Amino acid sequence: MSTNTNQMPQDFNSLIEVIEYFTDEKKCLDYLMAQRFDGAIACPHCGGSKVYCFSDGIRFKCGSCRQQFTAKVGTIFEGSKIPMKKWFTAIYLVTSHKKGISSHQLARDIKVTQKTGWFMLHRIRFALGQGSFDMPLGGEGVIVESDTTITGGKVKNMSNKKRKEIREGFRGINDNKASVAGYIERSGTIKFDVIAPNESEKELLTKHVDTTSVLMTDSATTYTTVGKEFAHHGIVDHSKSEYVRDNVYHTNTIEGAFSLFDRMIIGIYHSVSVKHLQAYCNESAYRYNTRKMNEGNRVSLTVQKSNGRLTYKALISK
Ligand SMILES: [Zn+2]
Repeated sequence: MSTNTNQMPQDFNSLIEVIEYFTDEKKCLDYLMAQRFDGAIACPHCGGSKVYCFSDGIRFKCGSCRQQFTAKVGTIFEGSKIPMKKWFTAIYLVTSHKKGISSHQLARDIKVTQKTGWFMLHRIRFALGQGSFDMPLGGEGVIVESDTTITGGKVKNMSNKKRKEIREGFRGINDNKASVAGYIERSGTIKFDVIAPNESEKELLTKHVDTTSVLMTDSATTYTTVGKEFAHHGIVDHSKSEYVRDNVYHTNTIEGAFSLFDRMIIGIYHSVSVKHLQAYCNESAYRYNTRKMNEGNRVSLTVQKSNGRLTYKALISK
């Protein structure tokens, strides 16, 4: 059995290369298999490694549990009738566009309905979020900035007029429900987490940031007590018009990342409901965290993270 892993290109440097490479479904499935398993195929039903390939080169059979499968089983692509070429093109478009892509635009670009485009984008976002919350950020000697926003800007800095505009523009979002906490290592990795009604910023901080880190926040009282749990807590007092002190005390990195997030939401998606907000957070964080990668590596990394399913029913009932 062979999946031709040696011939797999690891990256694509342009959209045209993606389109030209994936000439047929078999080639797409070979690529998916290679990205998922890197030559060591395991049965998605039982994890068994004794796997046989049928002569079509697409279907596999497990020697242990005797079940059949294709490369798509157990991934975001399972059950989809959309040709894989369109999926990979969509992944390229989502991950290479600086602010993302709307379902309307995607639908036109790859010739699917808007509803299909919307569902595809959500499945891709599901993949982008895989594994992103597993490890806390920071560590000894690492500065981690944290701040909170709501889509559209920081509530505490907003005029009442602006708050009202945002509430009206983002149906369902209000100041309490849709706060997003952000955590960022300087010149490193970012995480965004939507603060659920039963969660506090304090709990999330110790969940997402290693307490041996140096924590950097503004002077909001929510950080005062929890800040003591960290190796050091640096505070910059925006209320006294202080933004950078000694070149170290600032929260400019997280604020810059929030502004990219806002531009994605306002510029591309226009209206985001609370129930899907975390998915958009994952998309924005993925784009930030892969900012130094080339386009092709972003595609292959997304495909590697495609394990797991998100059904339409689960998506709309969340
Ligand atoms: Zn099996």
